[in-house]
Amino acid sequence: MTAAGPTVRGTLSIIATPIGNLGDLSERARTVLGEVSLLLCEDTRHTARLLQHLGLNPRCQALHAHNETERIGDVLGMLAEGRHIGLVSDAGTPCLSDPGARLVDAVQAAKHTVHTLPGPFAAAAGLAASGLNPVPFAFWGFAPKASMARRRWLELRLSPAPGGGAMSHAVYVPGRDVAAMLADVDAIAPEVRVVVARELTKLHEGYLRGTPAAVAEALLPEQAKGEAVLLIEVTE
Ligand code: SAM
Repeated sequence: MTAAGPTVRGTLSIIATPIGNLGDLSERARTVLGEVSLLLCEDTRHTARLLQHLGLNPRCQALHAHNETERIGDVLGMLAEGRHIGLVSDAGTPCLSDPGARLVDAVQAAKHTVHTLPGPFAAAAGLAASGLNPVPFAFWGFAPKASMARRRWLELRLSPAPGGGAMSHAVYVPGRDVAAMLADVDAIAPEVRVVVARELTKLHEGYLRGTPAAVAEALLPEQAKGEAVLLIEVTE
């Protein structure tokens, strides 16, 4: 490697995968999954199901929240040999509430080639279908699990757009926590519009819209399962 970057450039492809519907995998993602010499997976067993569906068999290694930092040196070494490495998470876009961002930062800093293969991202998919004011929006990932910390976390985030107007906020919520989150939002900002976007692209895809209290009341026990994005529209 020289000060200007590596003498041999490898390629890291960041590959978005479906969040439920396998039909959402792009043609380009399919092609690159068949080309990489190594695929870094959040969970190799999980990604094996997608690869089996595609009839592909790349070499896979785990790269998850607990080993990402220690894997970076190895991955940079393989890229310096000119290899093409893919990065996937269990679902959706790697790095966004998923592992990968520290690796990508190191690969960019080492001046290897980085390609992004965009695709499903639950926050964007839910926001687009919510009917809420979509721009500006903030993506916050997961809230803290503990109720006091979560309430404070929401209080700090649910502010109107800088400069005025409406602003939407997207929070990832495991289905079992949706009711508690709605109660927190109701306590902080009872008048806001919220949408619980559930099971996006899957069989039971659905949207519950209204004030936090109205949506909490409409939430059926079977809807407190699965995956959800909570969208919150704050106005001045
Ligand atoms: N990187 C992923 C993405 O691009 O959206 C997010 C991964 S994060 C670990 C998983 C969370 O994303 C879930 O708890 C849920 O809040 C949200 N999510 C993922 N798939 C979803 C779906 N099909 N419907 C609703 N929310 C989903």
